[in-house]
Amino acid sequence: MAKVKGSIKIDTERCKGCEVCVPACPESVIALSKNVNGKGYHYAEMVNDNCIGCTNCAVVCPDGVISVYRVKLNS
Ligand code: SF4
Ligand code: SF4
Repeated sequence: MAKVKGSIKIDTERCKGCEVCVPACPESVIALSKNVNGKGYHYAEMVNDNCIGCTNCAVVCPDGVISVYRVKLNS
């Protein structure tokens, strides 16, 4: 059966560091960076490769800065 693997892209310059996406992820993929973006916010970033492409993070982000990509893997 084909598994689905996901990945996210975060527009870090538009992220406000609100952290809403962090608990929304069932795979604990997202955390806030120690670094800040141009506006001084700690931005969200991927911290592991466990994304399953569920789109929860993109749905809850109030600023719509997360894009989710899904890839089917043959295994
Ligand atoms: S798409 Fe789902 S699994 Fe992937 S980072 Fe977002 S909430 Fe987590
Ligand atoms: S929910 Fe959106 S704005 Fe908030 S920390 Fe996550 S990516 Fe940034």
